[in-house]
Amino acid sequence: MFRHYFLARYAPGAKPVAWVSSGAPVELLRAFDFYTLYPENHGALCGAQRMGPELCVAAEERGYSPDLCSYARIDLGHAFSGRTPAGRLPRPDLLFCSNNICQTVLYWYKELAHLWKIPLVLLDTPFNFGSLKDEDVRYMAGQLEEMIPDLERISGRSFSLARLQAVMDLSRRSAQTWGQVLATLKNRPAPMTIFDAFVHLAPIVSLRGLPVCLDYYGRLLRELEERVSQGTAAVLNERKRLMWDNIAIWYKVRELSELFASRGCNFVTATYTNAWAETIDQLDPRGPFQSLARTYSLVILNNNLAHRLELMENLAREFEVDGLVIHSARSCKPYSVGQYDLKRLLRDRLGLPSVVIEADIADYRAYSEEQALAGLEVFFETLGV
Ligand code: SF4
Repeated sequence: MFRHYFLARYAPGAKPVAWVSSGAPVELLRAFDFYTLYPENHGALCGAQRMGPELCVAAEERGYSPDLCSYARIDLGHAFSGRTPAGRLPRPDLLFCSNNICQTVLYWYKELAHLWKIPLVLLDTPFNFGSLKDEDVRYMAGQLEEMIPDLERISGRSFSLARLQAVMDLSRRSAQTWGQVLATLKNRPAPMTIFDAFVHLAPIVSLRGLPVCLDYYGRLLRELEERVSQGTAAVLNERKRLMWDNIAIWYKVRELSELFASRGCNFVTATYTNAWAETIDQLDPRGPFQSLARTYSLVILNNNLAHRLELMENLAREFEVDGLVIHSARSCKPYSVGQYDLKRLLRDRLGLPSVVIEADIADYRAYSEEQALAGLEVFFETLGV
């Protein structure tokens, strides 16, 4: 990731540059050789480096509401101030997003497009209130095909179906390997924690469709399999296995990781890390546009709560989970809505004890340490650790 951000500084002029939302079908851009950056990944980086509030304030001073997602405020704050822990980010030629994760991202990218007078391309994904409809797939696949002339014009490169298919194949294999990486946590003791996975997630989000991504997860998988065969535990005396719901609290990853490990608790699964293994491995290069449409429409945040409940039940069973920690993220309304219902339903169906941490993904002003620790103490008591 360091190399990726470093090279990004020198991309303008050598390659067309695009800023992309995490749920957008980046495979299509790779077919035109765009150098891609992910503002959400940059937001997480700023959050982990505890620069979130400083950049959020730079946006709030321009009138953006503190109730907006902190990734959006960080990114707008960076656009206004130029400040970033990554040194320098290249100005994009294109903004590319999908509203399959939220509507915020569309209005946020519209602001950037207006500010820099650059094109914005959107994949509009109807929300799946029930199962995915054929007419919705046709609508989305049609949009993808219609983007091609615009992408050719912006990138100055011609479209090649064979290139798109090759990229999709790489993406699918990377997501499958990421899924295998996560599956190693089914072992007792688990060879890594979900806090590790939060960090290892960066390539599947940001470098999907590039050979380096597949290479990275192949190496990680081999290392984890070796740890499993040697019985090497990520958490000594793993007593309780937990599930995490929602995006990480980036500025608290280390502290929370140490706190839970000190109680013999290991997070072995998360809806968040699972998201890039759940649907992307369904990419099928033989029917590229329809398969891209299906894959990106079915992501967790574009799906109904019944789907989320079923997913969480399955993860809890497969990974033999003893408890659930729910991050209610002030930034991410689509991820946080319905969490109290999910908590109740999972308790009723599986007897799963749980706790809610009210926090934010990257803006630590919305986090109260005392309140979080008090809730966690009760949770630890319930678990008997
Ligand atoms: S609102 Fe949620 S899904 Fe949308 S950009 Fe923010 S964190 Fe991501």
